Amino acid sequence: MTERFIGIDLGTTNSCVATVEDGVPTVIANKGGYKTTPSMVAITESGRRLIGHIAKRQAITNAQNTVYAAKRLIGRKWSHASVEPARQVLPYKLVEGELGDVRIELREKAYAIPEISAMVLTEMKRIAEEHCGGPVEKAVITLPAYFNDGQRQATKDAGRIAGLDVIRVINEPTAAALAYGFKKNITKRVAVYDLGGGTFDISVLDIHEGVFEVLATSGDTFLGGEDFDQRIVEWLVLDFVKEHKIDLRTDVMALQRLRDAAENAKMQLSLSVSTEINLPFIITADSKPDALHLQRTLTREKFQELTADLVQRSITICERMLQEARLTTSDLNEVILVGGMTRVPAVQAAVKSFFGLDPAKSVHPDEVVALGAAVQAAALVGGAKGEEEKPTMLLLDVTPHHLGIMIAGGYFNVLISSNTTVPTSAMHTFTTVRDDQTTVKIVVLQGDSRVAQENELLGEFLLTDLPAGPRGTVEIDVRFDISSDGIVSVAAKDKTTGREQSIQVTASSRMSEDELSNIMGANDEFAVAEKNAEQFQALKNEVERSLRDIDRLLPGVRDFISASELGDGALKKIDAVKERARAAMQAQDIEALKSVHEPLDRAVTMLKGVTDRIAKP
Ligand code: ADP
Ligand code: MG
Repeated sequence: MTERFIGIDLGTTNSCVATVEDGVPTVIANKGGYKTTPSMVAITESGRRLIGHIAKRQAITNAQNTVYAAKRLIGRKWSHASVEPARQVLPYKLVEGELGDVRIELREKAYAIPEISAMVLTEMKRIAEEHCGGPVEKAVITLPAYFNDGQRQATKDAGRIAGLDVIRVINEPTAAALAYGFKKNITKRVAVYDLGGGTFDISVLDIHEGVFEVLATSGDTFLGGEDFDQRIVEWLVLDFVKEHKIDLRTDVMALQRLRDAAENAKMQLSLSVSTEINLPFIITADSKPDALHLQRTLTREKFQELTADLVQRSITICERMLQEARLTTSDLNEVILVGGMTRVPAVQAAVKSFFGLDPAKSVHPDEVVALGAAVQAAALVGGAKGEEEKPTMLLLDVTPHHLGIMIAGGYFNVLISSNTTVPTSAMHTFTTVRDDQTTVKIVVLQGDSRVAQENELLGEFLLTDLPAGPRGTVEIDVRFDISSDGIVSVAAKDKTTGREQSIQVTASSRMSEDELSNIMGANDEFAVAEKNAEQFQALKNEVERSLRDIDRLLPGVRDFISASELGDGALKKIDAVKERARAAMQAQDIEALKSVHEPLDRAVTMLKGVTDRIAKP
């Protein structure tokens, strides 16, 4: 018998588990018949642990000890910009862990976030085992494409704590595409738009006869249904303040009831154009004899007005991703909607209008990710139960963030750019920055900012006892590897002696806040510098290619642009950036060259878009 395996969609709000039975991907319902389980965990007064639906049901009366949306905190450091705002609004208590990580305190015990996620995973494992009638260990777990290395590691840790053998973590949109394209002999370019409870992801993939190749991915780990709910809550709160001069947010129970009511109203508005919000006895005021009630009508129109900017934010991310991938919406054949929030009419309308496509009908937004995870698990375990032939499937995913090291001056030097297909590796040579510098510190970063400090720190290590010599002459090779899971390892080698040091960047290798600020500080003592020549040449090649593209495309569209809404301003901008590029190449100024790289790319994308538009009647 082949081994049992499952795919788990560990969602911010809801989780779902699936397997492949007789060659058919199938979602496993729990005993109550529910196909999804709230990703919620609670500890009762008597110390009992509640997970899923029963945790959700008692959330109002036990708000401080009920955890929801823990995924928003997984793999985050206490110092991360998102933690403080979360602390302000969450009913449960966040405390700083020993390693500078975030912990959740429930009934005087502090839990690491992977521990909380592990409780949800344990429940999913249990649901599967009940269904299969025996132990299940092998699992593929999904995560947002935009998760960085720390978040990926922490998710794998959660699986391990839950007693699962996590054979792979895959990106949610990729999983959705796998389920969509499973056993269909199609050639299509699809966009997967996933708006869930806490996160937003967008990916573009080519599906071609069993090969799934991700072309680009982007997202926002702080954009989801919770934000929409929050808007309704704020609207209700402000109204209540106006009327009664009482801020309901100061009362934990009232706030939890508001949040519940807001979510219900939002869901109702997917079906009807208006809904009633009724919260009797919401609060008692010292000055008033009776408890106060809250009653409001929320129309779909008002809801859309309150949340229009959130919907637009997701579209802007889609736009940016296509631009970076040098694609336009006309390159796409299909758009797949994933996540509970894609039931919101305004979201559907925005997606349809931006992509100019009707979303695929065959996809169940709550189940498709888990199904895809199961499909991937089947492929990895080697043949689903009852199936004669191995599923033939190849998955080529990409890394969502730039990866590199800090160099002298506090800059971020990228070794592997975002949207590179994984697994991948890259090598680059760096040099010392001072005469007789015998130690260098390799600071490994992931992110999108040119300033080292603004990126996520993955880890660091020292390379000591380098041969003494004039600055710039001692060379160090740094090699990065990213696995199919998107997990990073780094090795550095002193070229003269051949001595090597490496780390696998693990969640547990994370360091204390003090160490952190030491590393990220302006301390250049152990800095490395780029060995410029090669990188300069590579960048120059790219810039020259863009300049050639511009020179080729511009003459055909110049008049059109000038007459269009873009106007002469757009043409002037292109000329200016071309000028800057030429000057940078002349001056051999790598920093200046880097700064024109992206604007040039954008110009090419724009020109291609216009060329296409003119070509089409
Ligand atoms: P996640 O993957 O982050 O766990 P889901 O895909 O399960 O999230 O989506 C959960 C979100 O979808 C929640 O914010 C929930 O309120 C919202 N949602 C679910 N059903 C509907 C609906 N019918 N109309 C509007 N929003 C919905
Ligand atoms: Mg989801």
